[in-house]
Amino acid sequence: MGVGGCEVRRCFADKIPDMRIVRLAVAALAMATITAQAAEGITAIVGATIVHPDREASKAVEADQTVIIAGDRIVGVGPAKTTRVPRGATRIEARGKWLVPGLVDAHVHFFQSGNLYTRPDGADFGAYMPYAKEDARNRARLAATFKVWLASGVTSVVDIGGPFWNFEVREQARRSDAAPRVIVAGPLVSMVDRVKLDLGDPPIIKTTTVGEVVDLVRKEIDRKADYIKVWFIYRPGDDIAAQEALVKAAGDSAHAAGIPLAVHATELVTAKAALRAGADYLVHSIEDAPIDDEFIALMKKNKALYCPTLYVIMGYRQMFSNQWHATDIEKRRADPEILPMMDDLATIPKEAVPERVAALMAKPPEIKPSQTMLDNLKKVWDAGIPVAMGTDAGNVGTLHGPSVFREMELMAQAGLTPLEVLRAATVGGARAMRMERDLGRIEAGRLADLVILDADPTASVVNLARAYRVIKAGRIYSPDDLIKSIR
Ligand SMILES: [Zn+2]
Repeated sequence: MGVGGCEVRRCFADKIPDMRIVRLAVAALAMATITAQAAEGITAIVGATIVHPDREASKAVEADQTVIIAGDRIVGVGPAKTTRVPRGATRIEARGKWLVPGLVDAHVHFFQSGNLYTRPDGADFGAYMPYAKEDARNRARLAATFKVWLASGVTSVVDIGGPFWNFEVREQARRSDAAPRVIVAGPLVSMVDRVKLDLGDPPIIKTTTVGEVVDLVRKEIDRKADYIKVWFIYRPGDDIAAQEALVKAAGDSAHAAGIPLAVHATELVTAKAALRAGADYLVHSIEDAPIDDEFIALMKKNKALYCPTLYVIMGYRQMFSNQWHATDIEKRRADPEILPMMDDLATIPKEAVPERVAALMAKPPEIKPSQTMLDNLKKVWDAGIPVAMGTDAGNVGTLHGPSVFREMELMAQAGLTPLEVLRAATVGGARAMRMERDLGRIEAGRLADLVILDADPTASVVNLARAYRVIKAGRIYSPDDLIKSIR
């Protein structure tokens, strides 16, 4: 199934319909070869309780299973009693542990760090920390940022918009020994300017005519963008029909190249306009009103994907009112360079604190999740619309890596069961990655992206933070060692 709905869009996911059969045959052959004689590059995870997030609750959990990995793929899954471990295989004892597919964060931004200085268009701390310095630090910090994702059990991420530099991020991840799979959109096709973010390669580019939209989209297609992303910002007085025409121009150009259209549209009105214009992926919740039948029908017509990003707005508010506190898992899994910076507000000289932030600090608001967003997620889920877990990591207060655990707890608060949250973070994530045939399930033929957990993820989403080992493309990582290796 493609992310999109129409004939043209179908092509990008269903190119090779028989590939799955081919892979299963290859997997069977590989299994036969490795049982006959052993086995370099073979790993056996022995005796794990597998959680299959794609299955209904009664069939999702299988105890005492062994998984055999050869190279970057799973080649065998079966009961530990009857599944032979090839001689010479690397053996991971997993009795008393749980095994889930690698998590996917379907909404991140590598050009941002999560600290106070990363979005000067929101609050400008330039008098204390010039944005150019923050931007340069983020670019130089990429290897560490990749590691914190893996350490949190996240084996794939979608960077859904940033500078043209994003295409280098994708390359660097591909070449790295310790990085999640990364797919990217380039600069946001935007209704508004963000001049403070423009250091020569801006992440957000204002376009006002169909010609400008098509030109920008063309440049991103030339760089093999995985998504085209539109920042659909509607303000009272704007001509929404004209805006919809711009979104449609972006969508038509993207679809003609077989690339899906992602849209930031957080109001019900703009989200519907985005869907009429061809959106395949809504990257945030609808936050201003309860969703309705028309919205659900449009989502279904486009076969569109929904990413709720429930925490990110709370992160901004907590940071700007000096009420952000690291969670236990953030203390252990976040980038050790960024973590102490999260408390900077207490020590920044008063004259360098922007007025907006000073006002929030003087009168700290009570910060709670948006009930409308929680309710809309439950409605979307119950309507059978595919949902992907995504944090919007990199925004102020939302750390790369362990912020997934804040997000998944909020998804559970919206009324999803732990298994459903895991489904969004794996099966939904595979869809966001446009890799539904390779990711999101534990079965022979799939890529070996897995997390071994010390606690039961079907009992509570909190247990998803208890990673013992993380496996990406068959490579085994210890989360503690990943963090220790960061300088
Ligand atoms: Zn975003």
